[in-house]
Amino acid sequence: MFAAIMEQPERRIEAMTQYGGEGLPWIGLSPYTSKKHIVQNIGDGSYYHSSNQNIRYAVTTGQRMTFRILYNGVIANTGGQDYASSNSIEKLCRRLEIDGVKKIVLATKDPSVYQRRHLPDIVALRQPDEIPAALKELEKVDGVTVLIYDGDCANERRRRQKRGLAPKPVKFTVVNEDVCENCGDCGRKANCMSLQKVETRFGKKTQIHQSSCNQDRACVEGDCPSFVSVHVKEGTGPGKVALPDIPDDMADPVGPNLDRPYSIYIPGVGGTGVITLNAMLAQAAMHDGLNVKTYDQTGAAQKWGAVLSSLIVSHPDTEIIGNKVATRSADLYLAADMVAGAEPVNLKVCDKARTVAAVGTDILPTGEMIRDVFFQPDTTGIRDYIATHAMPGGTVTTPALTIAERLFGNYILSNMVTVGAAYQAGYLPISAAAIEKSMEAAGSAAKSNILAFRAGRLSIADPDRLAGMMESGQVTLADRFAETSPVQSIVETKVTPLMSRLSGLPDDTTALVAELAADLVIYQNLSYARRYTERLSQIAEITAERAPAQADRLVRLAAKNLHKIMAYKDEYEVARLLTDPVFETRLRKAYPGMVGMSYNLQPPTFRWLSPARKVEIGGWFRPALSLLARMKTLRGTAFDPFGRNPARRAELEAVKWYEGVLETVSDRLTLANADTCAEMIALPDDIRGYEDLKTESLARAKIKATDLTEQL
Ligand code: SF4
Repeated sequence: MFAAIMEQPERRIEAMTQYGGEGLPWIGLSPYTSKKHIVQNIGDGSYYHSSNQNIRYAVTTGQRMTFRILYNGVIANTGGQDYASSNSIEKLCRRLEIDGVKKIVLATKDPSVYQRRHLPDIVALRQPDEIPAALKELEKVDGVTVLIYDGDCANERRRRQKRGLAPKPVKFTVVNEDVCENCGDCGRKANCMSLQKVETRFGKKTQIHQSSCNQDRACVEGDCPSFVSVHVKEGTGPGKVALPDIPDDMADPVGPNLDRPYSIYIPGVGGTGVITLNAMLAQAAMHDGLNVKTYDQTGAAQKWGAVLSSLIVSHPDTEIIGNKVATRSADLYLAADMVAGAEPVNLKVCDKARTVAAVGTDILPTGEMIRDVFFQPDTTGIRDYIATHAMPGGTVTTPALTIAERLFGNYILSNMVTVGAAYQAGYLPISAAAIEKSMEAAGSAAKSNILAFRAGRLSIADPDRLAGMMESGQVTLADRFAETSPVQSIVETKVTPLMSRLSGLPDDTTALVAELAADLVIYQNLSYARRYTERLSQIAEITAERAPAQADRLVRLAAKNLHKIMAYKDEYEVARLLTDPVFETRLRKAYPGMVGMSYNLQPPTFRWLSPARKVEIGGWFRPALSLLARMKTLRGTAFDPFGRNPARRAELEAVKWYEGVLETVSDRLTLANADTCAEMIALPDDIRGYEDLKTESLARAKIKATDLTEQL
């Protein structure tokens, strides 16, 4: 299955067809639908293989559709082979014109390359960021149109870089998690699975997963200033994480009997090493002298397509019939990816009387989660659903992704963690020695694979010991509350006197409030922090009196949300967070070959000149940012140079609005309406993003506040 009819902006796949059938479903469907136009994606390899005939057929049958051709010079879905003969874009355009295509848009980063070449009159040159507008333009043409994107396939470029066939990247994009608001705008713009979430003391934030990042920088567009470019010496990149010491001192479990062939089914997603895992286990079984048959079923070539692997092992004297785990015949359901594991079509291999399951319980973000930050899958429900398909009591779970990220800084190792958990639960008929021997063949990754396998074993054998190892792992680049920050000394010297009315709170809530108040001292000044603690004191007293059972929950919510709305990220605050020494130190540690950094900003002047463009400003701009951070005393005053910006005025006004919300809660709180009050207190959590996005989410929060107030 290869081609997809895709529709912007939802980017959802509406239909699939076989390789060579691109566009044909639409030709059959178009007379029977009110839809006027579709976009069909194809690659240049597919075009020369067979899709050129489909374009001719679409022209002949009078279709209204756009073929979007990614021109990268290789057949990317089968491994990046060069296709025969030199098929230049000029020749392609001329051929399309002869075939009857009405209009062609050629999107390229460097239009000047084509300006002096002989292109047909129906060709218009555009920049890649003009593609959405160009597609709208083409949609209006009554006939077949083509959009050619002249550029690297990002996956193919990454593949070549790994093989040493293309220069290694010298520029990486990272997110400063303190600046990030977790609005999801970058996910919606880039639709990129490398935009993962990390838990911080300010909630979930975006992080770019470097080992899967294609460096196409689509996420950088938009108003968000969180993105920082790291420039490194050629041949260097993200530094290696110091591997933990996990000795092989765990007791070996009793494995399953091999009185008949043992079937292991591994549902997963592409790009996460499922096929490698299957090959590794097959090799290990052979080291143990077992019979082995395997089968890998892969979906589309891109990352995160479905991958379903079967591994059947047997005693050397027992023959294995077939190489694919059939319906209700899995002995072990190895769900390294829980979302794929919960697919009913995959669960068909399970049998409640036969199957045991090993499940990695944290979830790789799906496309839906990347685009919608408020979409939260019910992980417990998914885990329990998988467990209902296995033998009662026959499911073992491990937070494999978290373990892999914390200990090794690489989620790809989560599969090995899940295998370790399955082994330690006694679900694998292969010895640990054979598994580790097989992993040794992985070359430079051998050691981390083996340690990840042992970490998975430890998660079952001694979870407390593993938890201790994970505590030391550093998970974010930015952390303005890190031990080396001035927050603790400000708590001791300035904030403690402000906390007298908050003395009845539990210790951890007191510590939370004190740290957030200290942050507000740094953000603005002591009197701003006092305004914060006084408002919280009022909430603490009222909740203790009227809803004591809910008091701690409500105070913690108020502490976080009041801090969030008061510490709004204007120019001064973004400048402070981008130049925070903790962030810069961690960046240098994470990129040992770092030679410089640059900021991706959209200063007000540039916004006026070009509303859609970010500007990458080099490290020379750091002193200016430092100065800007120190100018915070102008914030909200008549001399504030940014004070007339409508977004800034809205943020300033939002603080007063939220204080009004807290007043309403204080007036009307009862034990019976505590949940509604909690929803009101949490409203700032929905206000996210920068500039227009933030203004829009603030407007929505105000409407919600009115609705909730009516319920009190
Ligand atoms: S603030 Fe929004 S756009 Fe910026 S990094 Fe975070 S999630 Fe992405």
